[in-house]
Amino acid sequence: MNRRDALTAHLEFFQELGAEGFSREPAWRFRGERLAHPASPSEPTNVDSEASSTNDETTPTTLDQIREALGDCTRCKLHQGRTTLVFGVGHPDADLMFVGEAPGRDEDRQGEPFVGRAGQLLTKIIESVGLTRDQVYIANVIKCRPPQNRNPELDEVQTCEPFLFQQLDVIRPRVVVALGAFAVRTLLRSEQSISRLRGQVFDYRGAKLVPTFHPAFLLRSPDRKRDVWEDMKKVRALLSS
Ligand code: SF4
Repeated sequence: MNRRDALTAHLEFFQELGAEGFSREPAWRFRGERLAHPASPSEPTNVDSEASSTNDETTPTTLDQIREALGDCTRCKLHQGRTTLVFGVGHPDADLMFVGEAPGRDEDRQGEPFVGRAGQLLTKIIESVGLTRDQVYIANVIKCRPPQNRNPELDEVQTCEPFLFQQLDVIRPRVVVALGAFAVRTLLRSEQSISRLRGQVFDYRGAKLVPTFHPAFLLRSPDRKRDVWEDMKKVRALLSS
């Protein structure tokens, strides 16, 4: 693909997301270096998570230590059907972290979150913020694929989520994007629908949390891409303020 075709494809994607133009503001050329702590563009709500650690006695300080502690995990019944435990991928010191629900079929096979069609869309969403997959961190609340992609059950969430909290505490991102209803409700301990929660910014474990739709939902409901575009503008403002 030559540069003209590449630029055309890039612009078409932004149009697909609902962008109507481009700003000349310097902040929009920002490419994700670590800056001062952001201010929230909307009224934040404080959310403190109750569960913060596993029963392990020592608090891990690196992602490798968390992965090592997980080991060949059999702590919940989801280990029975998995091919690969999907830990997470990306920059260990990322300013921006994406949290989804659980691995699907492709992720279970490849051991990496968001690698299927939804993953390709997530990559474009990340690029819309001016970053690459290598510059952010991507993980799921649940590390093993539920059978037939069913919703994770409460005991599975309670068993697995402490490892996500450890990842968050080690990476210490400045902005967390919660992808989809399940991740949003789990992280925020909320029963509200994602349609009500998105558009807001929440204080969460020292970061700003931005709820948005899951890329798999966007594949089924492309008309909601505009909402995600608005959410990513918010993310960009938080990272560059
Ligand atoms: S889902 Fe989490 S707790 Fe359950 S077996 Fe997999 S890694 Fe362990």
